[in-house]
Amino acid sequence: MVSQKHSLQSLSTFALPSYAANLLHLFAPEQLQAIDFPNLGPFYILGGGSNTIFLEDYAGTIIQPDFKGIEVQEHSDNWALHICAGENWHQLVCFCLENNIPGLENLALIPGNCGAAPIQNIGAYGIEFANFCEYVDWYNFETCEQQRLTRDECNFGYRDSIFKGKLKGKGVIVAVGVSIPKLWQPKLSYPGLQELQLPTPKQVFDTVVAIRQSKLPDPEQIPNVGSFFKNPVVDNEQYQQLSSEYESMPAFPQANGKVKLAAGWLIDQCGLKGKQIGGTAVHKKQALVLTNIANGSGKDLVALATYVRQQVKDKFAILLEPEVRLIGASGETTLETAK
Ligand SMILES: Cc1cc2nc3c(=O)[nH]c(=O)nc-3n(C[C@H](O)[C@H](O)[C@H](O)COP(=O)(O)OP(=O)(O)OC[C@H]3O[C@@H](n4cnc5c(N)ncnc54)[C@H](O)[C@@H]3O)c2cc1C
Repeated sequence: MVSQKHSLQSLSTFALPSYAANLLHLFAPEQLQAIDFPNLGPFYILGGGSNTIFLEDYAGTIIQPDFKGIEVQEHSDNWALHICAGENWHQLVCFCLENNIPGLENLALIPGNCGAAPIQNIGAYGIEFANFCEYVDWYNFETCEQQRLTRDECNFGYRDSIFKGKLKGKGVIVAVGVSIPKLWQPKLSYPGLQELQLPTPKQVFDTVVAIRQSKLPDPEQIPNVGSFFKNPVVDNEQYQQLSSEYESMPAFPQANGKVKLAAGWLIDQCGLKGKQIGGTAVHKKQALVLTNIANGSGKDLVALATYVRQQVKDKFAILLEPEVRLIGASGETTLETAK
C-alpha cells in the first residue's frame, strides 16, 4: 500500500516534475480506518489531479481514494445514483447517457473524479453539481466514522462548498449521491447551445464536447488544469463603472445582485494570450488556461500567474483568485507565499 518517493508528474494534469515522500493508494473505504491521521503528518487527498498543481516536491503523504462503483435506483419521478469517489466524472456522464438517464450532459468532459465534484461544486454551461446532489458520504478523521451530509449541509456556492471551508482537510469524500429527474429539461441558455432546436440529450452532449474540444487544450497534449483563475464576482457599482468603459465586457448577473465577470476576457484584454514565462504560457486560444508547454517548473508557473494577476489588477482593479489548488513542499500554498 505504501511506496516511497513517488513521482507526481502523471498524477496532476499540469504535469510538473515533482515527487511525494509517501503515497497511499486506497481501493476500499475500510482502508481509511487503518490510517492514523493524527500522527500521519502532512497529507493531501488527490483525485484525478485536474485541479491540483504540485509546484515542487511534496514532503507529506498523498492519499488517493480510488473507490469504484455506481449503483442506480429507479423511482417514479427520478433516478437515484450512488457513485463511489474514484469513478471518473466524464465516464459517469457517458454511463448515464448510455443508460437513458439524461441530465448531466452539460457537465460532459470535465476531467477528474466524482469524489472531487462537490469540493468546488463543478459547473459548466449553466449547470453545476449542486443541481443534482442529494448527499455526500464523508469519512470524518476526528470521529473515524462515515457520515452523510445533505445537499443543504454542503453549503454549495460558485466553485465553493463546505469542503473548501469548515471541513477542509478534515475528511475524505467516499461517495456522492445524485438525483436526476425523469422529466428531462435541456439547459440551453449558454452560447453554443442556444442554437439547438428541440435537441436530444445526445445532441446536447455532442455539442458540449465539441465546444469544449474547440476551446480548451486537451491536458494529454498540452498539460493544464482548465481555468486557472475563478471568474471574479464584483458588486454592481464596480460593474457599472467597468461596463461604461468596456461596453463589450461579458457579465453574468447573480441572484444576490452581484455580477460575475469572465476572467478569461479580462486577461485577454491585457493582451496576454500566448504570454510565456519559462516553460509555462497563457494558452493562445483561451486566456483563462495556463499551460505547461515546455517542461515548465513551479517557479515559472508562479511567475506567470503572478504576472497575469498583476496586469489584470492594474487595468481593471480586480484581483483574480486561483481556482486551482497549489501544493508546495509542506502543503497547500498561495501565489503570494509560493514566490
Ligand atoms: C481541461 C480542464 C477543463 C476543466 N473544466 C472544468 C469545468 O468546466 N468546470 C469545473 O468546475 N472544473 C473544471 N476543471 C477543473 C477540474 O476538472 C475539477 O475541479 C475537478 O472536479 C477536479 O477533480 P480531480 O479529481 O481531478 O481533483 P483533484 O485535483 O485531484 O483535487 C481537487 C480538490 O479536491 C480534493 N479531493 C479530491 N478528491 C477528494 C476526496 N475523495 N475527498 C476529499 N477531497 C478530495 C483535493 O484535495 C483538492 O482539494 C477542468 C480541468 C481541466 C484540466
